[in-house]
Amino acid sequence: MKVSPEIVSLIPYKPGKPISETQREYGLTKVIKLASNENPLGPSPKAIAAIKNLLQQLHRYPDPTAYDLLQTLSKKWNFPVQQLGLGNGSDELIDILVRIYCEPGDGVLTSQSAFSAYEISAQANRAKVHIVPYTSDYKFDLKAMGDYFFAHPEAKIRLIFIANPNNPTGTYAPRAEVEAFLSRLGNREDVLIVFDEAYNEFVRAKDYANADEFIRKYKNVIALRTFSKIFGLAGLRLGGMVAPPEVIEIFNRVRKPFNVNDLAQVAAVAALQDSEFIAASQQIVWKGLDYFYEKLQKMGLPYIESQGNFVMFDTLRDAAQVNEALLRKGIIMRPIKNYGFATHLRLSVGLEEENLAAMTALEEVLKTIPQAK
Ligand SMILES: *Cc1c(COP(=O)(O)O)cnc(C)c1O
Repeated sequence: MKVSPEIVSLIPYKPGKPISETQREYGLTKVIKLASNENPLGPSPKAIAAIKNLLQQLHRYPDPTAYDLLQTLSKKWNFPVQQLGLGNGSDELIDILVRIYCEPGDGVLTSQSAFSAYEISAQANRAKVHIVPYTSDYKFDLKAMGDYFFAHPEAKIRLIFIANPNNPTGTYAPRAEVEAFLSRLGNREDVLIVFDEAYNEFVRAKDYANADEFIRKYKNVIALRTFSKIFGLAGLRLGGMVAPPEVIEIFNRVRKPFNVNDLAQVAAVAALQDSEFIAASQQIVWKGLDYFYEKLQKMGLPYIESQGNFVMFDTLRDAAQVNEALLRKGIIMRPIKNYGFATHLRLSVGLEEENLAAMTALEEVLKTIPQAK
C-alpha cells in the first residue's frame, strides 16, 4: 500500500524511558525517573478519592459533555463554557487543531527546538512544518516568526504554535514580546495563534503573561493547558483549551464524543479544587530547581534557567554516554538529541531525596567521562 511521504518520514514521539524497562534492562530494583516532567508528589489525594468513588460506574460511557468539569473550569479559568474544550491530553488538542485548520500542504509555524508534538501532528495530518531558529538564548524568536509569516504567504500558515514556557528548553516569551507579536498577527482571519501553556503554573518570571488577556483581546488566540503536570494526572490523559467560541464549536464536532473518560473528568474537578496540592507542587518544583542550579553551577555545567518543572543542562560531553552511565546507576534523565541538543540532558524535578540521588550520580558519572568541549 502506498503511504504518503509525510507519514513515511514521521519520527514518532520519543517518551521518557519507563521505570520497569530500566529495571529489566539494567537488573536494578531501585530506579528514579526524572525524565517526563511528572509531578513528584503523585496525583492530588482529592483526585484519587474521586476516582475511587467512581470505579463502580466504569460500565457506563463517560459524560460526553463533561458538564461538571466544564462548569468547574469555567469558574477557575474565568471563561464561559462556550470557550472551553477538552482533549485526551493536550496532545490530542494539538492534533485536532491541525486536522481542523490545515488542508494538505498548509503550513504550521513554530520554533526550532519547540515541543515536538506540533511537528508530529502537522506531519501526520499532511501539513508542512516551518521552523524559525531560536534566539541566541534558546528562546522563541517571536519577531522572526512574525517576519516569517509575512514573508511567506505561499506557505499558507494556518497555525502558529508557541510553547510558553517551552519544553525542553524551559524558556518563555515575555509579555512585551507576545504583545508585539500579537499587534502584528492578532485578529487575522487566516491564522490561529496557539499558546501551549503546559507549565504556566510553574513560571516565576515576573514579565510572563499567560494568554488569558490576549484571548479576550484578539479573536484568533488559543491557550492549551494540561492536567499532566501540576495536577499530577498524566496517566489519565486530560488537556484543556481556551479558544474563541467558533473554534470550540467546530472542535466539538470533530472530537470523538468520549475522548475524555469519566475518571479523568472527576479527578480533574477534584484536583482543580485542591489548592493545597497545587501550592505544594509549585513549592517542590521551585525548591528543586534552585537546588539543581546550585549543584550544576558547582559542577561547572551550563544550564538554562527554567520556567517549567525541569531544567535543561549541558553535560559538556556526549549526552548519550552520560545518560547511559546514569541509567546504570538507576537514574533516568531525558536525552534531547532529537531536539538538536547532543550534549544536553533534561532533568525533571523530583522529591528532595530523588534530586539528591540524581546530582550525586551525575557528579560521579562526570568523573568517568572526559569533557568533550
Ligand atoms: C507535557 C507537555 C504537554 C502536555 O501533554 P499532555 O498530552 O497533556 O500530557 C503539552 N505541551 C508541552 C510543551 C509539554 O511539555
